[in-house]
Amino acid sequence: MNRFVVANPRRCIGCKACEIACALAHLSVDVNAANENELPFIPRLSLVRAARVTMPVQCRQCEDAPCANVCKEGAIVQKDGCNIVYDELCIGCKKCMVVCPFGAIDVKPLIVNDRTVAQHGLQADGAAKEVFVTQKCDLCLGRSEGPACVAICPGDAFVIVDDEMLKETTKNKRFAAAKEIGKL
Ligand code: SF4
Ligand code: SF4
Repeated sequence: MNRFVVANPRRCIGCKACEIACALAHLSVDVNAANENELPFIPRLSLVRAARVTMPVQCRQCEDAPCANVCKEGAIVQKDGCNIVYDELCIGCKKCMVVCPFGAIDVKPLIVNDRTVAQHGLQADGAAKEVFVTQKCDLCLGRSEGPACVAICPGDAFVIVDDEMLKETTKNKRFAAAKEIGKL
């Protein structure tokens, strides 16, 4: 089963530290070089503020992922219990954005060798247009400390939900339900 990160809205204080940590964790170079190269700074989760709730929303790593099902380029694949986008296969058609039930996908400029890439054959206002591809939470795969949002959150709002945790939670709910019925 895929694992995923989810936030507890009761613990989120809306500080946006998770968004900053996420964007930093996905830079291919340090902040100064990113600034010089004018690289985009785009997190893979979004803090949502509504009337009664403030919390970050990110990919649930769906088991029958609508984003992967709709992608004709085969750009979204499962790797290490996580659904990831292969930038080099993505053509930026945005079908995956449209079908994601959580709004967990954004577009970002394609970065190759620490630079944005201009599209061959398409100009914008007389200049080369940047190539855009999609991006989503990849659970910071390859980062030894695990997901950057989980590590940075001062409210300890994030939980990594995996197979074991789901089984334990379900078991506890079953016991609670049985106890309730026992009182009848
Ligand atoms: S991006 Fe959306 S559809 Fe795709 S796995 Fe994540 S939550 Fe599911
Ligand atoms: S935007 Fe990219 S990842 Fe999404 S469906 Fe199109 S080709 Fe696939």
